[in-house]
Amino acid sequence: MGMEMNLLDGRAAVVTGSAQGIGLAIATVLARHGASVVVSDVNAEGAEQAAADLEAQGLKAVAVPCDVTDEAAVEALADACKSAFGSLDVLVNNAGITRDATMPKMTLEDFKKVLDVHLTGAWLGTRAAARIMREQRRGAIVNISSISGKAGNFGQTNYSSAKAGMIGLTKASARELARHQIRVNAIQPGPIRTAMTAAMPPEALQKMLDNIPLGRIGEPEDIANAALFLASDLSSFITGITVEVAGGRHM
Ligand code: NAP
Repeated sequence: MGMEMNLLDGRAAVVTGSAQGIGLAIATVLARHGASVVVSDVNAEGAEQAAADLEAQGLKAVAVPCDVTDEAAVEALADACKSAFGSLDVLVNNAGITRDATMPKMTLEDFKKVLDVHLTGAWLGTRAAARIMREQRRGAIVNISSISGKAGNFGQTNYSSAKAGMIGLTKASARELARHQIRVNAIQPGPIRTAMTAAMPPEALQKMLDNIPLGRIGEPEDIANAALFLASDLSSFITGITVEVAGGRHM
């Protein structure tokens, strides 16, 4: 596949929530482009399996279980990348959950839990990674937000709040970290074919598809390719932005 294989040669990347779905696709694409990858997930067994699958494809990967809401575990995750591969050059804050319900039915716990995983988790990851990246004077952080954070989805007051919050986090941390040559950007995926969308009522999914100008659901690789761009030097003068990968939905 030629030169483009070398975009991340010598770089080490951590992808949270990468046992499956979009995170696994991102870990795979980054590794195919030369990165050594830490596959991390709250599902420890899933992370082990995913890392073993990548290694079986001749790619460089290790598994490190981590719940992104656990401050000490996130600090240890960043350190584990540095000790396994000698650096931490790329962090993708991808771990996520949904707890959809309309407000009368949503518990405070469901609201807080979603904020905690997406927003607090991304903040903890950013802080831990930046501690290492600032000494290297190099780093790229990619936050996986959602088009739900731009448009506001019915039944997702928790999720849309968390995903919009991640845009504020992206911009504020991009501003703080630029002087250390650390770039921070976000991706807002539209509907992507994963377990998360498989769990949606079919008629709700169809309604979404009807509103995608490009006329199809997204694939995890569509997000992974955008993450590769933001993680690599192809985007070396880009920081604080949000890339919508949504087939034109909510443009
Ligand atoms: P997914 O298939 O459910 O994968 C998410 C992964 O994150 C799972 O392996 C999950 O583990 C893990 N996770 C959950 N809580 C965690 C925690 N506290 N710490 C570490 N890992 C945790 O979902 P996906 O569709 O690939 O979504 C990935 C990201 O893209 C999420 O941030 C999501 O919000 C975002 N996104 C997805 C879509 C879409 O259409 N799919 C659209 C826009 C944005 P368990 O399975 O054990 O919970």
